[in-house]
Amino acid sequence: MTILLADAFASDLPRRLSEFGTVTSDMAKLPDAEVLIVRSKTKVDKAMIDAAPKLKYIIRGGVGVDTIDVPYAKQKGIAVDNTPEASSIAVAELAFSMLLAMPNHLVAADTSMKEGKWLKKELERTELYGKTLGLIGIGRIAREVASRAKAFGMKVLAYDKYVSQSDAAEMMTLENVYKMADYLSIHTPLTDETRGMINAAAISQMKTSVRIVNTCRGQVVVEEDVAEALGQGKIAGYATDVYYADPPQNSPLTSAPNVLLTPHLGASTEENLLRLGDCIVDRLRKYTGK
Ligand code: NAD
Repeated sequence: MTILLADAFASDLPRRLSEFGTVTSDMAKLPDAEVLIVRSKTKVDKAMIDAAPKLKYIIRGGVGVDTIDVPYAKQKGIAVDNTPEASSIAVAELAFSMLLAMPNHLVAADTSMKEGKWLKKELERTELYGKTLGLIGIGRIAREVASRAKAFGMKVLAYDKYVSQSDAAEMMTLENVYKMADYLSIHTPLTDETRGMINAAAISQMKTSVRIVNTCRGQVVVEEDVAEALGQGKIAGYATDVYYADPPQNSPLTSAPNVLLTPHLGASTEENLLRLGDCIVDRLRKYTGK
């Protein structure tokens, strides 16, 4: 069988997968592919599925399948899988580095030093210690963020529409999380319920000193509302790894104040690529019965 690796994975993955079939990363081989393996870059839409008549199995290396037209794949008898267990630590460490970078002005400090400025007085830091972190969603990634936040002496609250009890955080209503959080970190999947949930109405319930971290999906926030709130001082900071589009197209965030932007690096650690490879080998072992 032909296994098509559409996105970037660990360099040893083609060799590891070769026991299951012919491995290629040549997209021209799509019509021959029985297994298609993607990360978030390749969007598996109807046109792509139609161009792959032999396709039986799509594996998304990563969390969620929102980059795949799952109903259409199912209609065509194609199984769809992902590897949600692999990326939690990688994403949590990025979210936590954003939590540290904002109150410590790491980017402004570094940029200004390189411009020959000495902003010792201007760059007033604040501590995470004693502050309240609000988590939206208390799944795998949020629980990893919670344990790191507790180690830094933060109080950790969470709202999850589908989880009422957790050892990782004190569960609250969404309104209370918005009201009490000094930092808000979003860890939901992108669904019809979460799309646009961080909008002007939600922001109006938050502290004006709140700093928001988004490592889940760009569409969970309304970028225009967040940029306007930053401009008007209704929130103090927004750090994001995710956008309406990768890379962002004419996003108001790129010119808003107090923004920290990373190019969708959440899952991109060396260690995570190795873990993704292990999960994909595991999925193919089950699929082929080998
Ligand atoms: P998870 O499934 O373990 O946790 C998601 C949690 O969100 C669940 O507990 C679920 O009950 C909760 N939830 C669902 N709908 C909700 C709602 N309407 N309101 C509140 N909570 C809700 O997923 P995870 O592994 O923690 O990943 C979370 C998200 O992170 C993924 O769906 C993905 O979009 C994103 N992600 C981003 C990157 C990146 O590179 N930045 C990498 C991996 C994952």
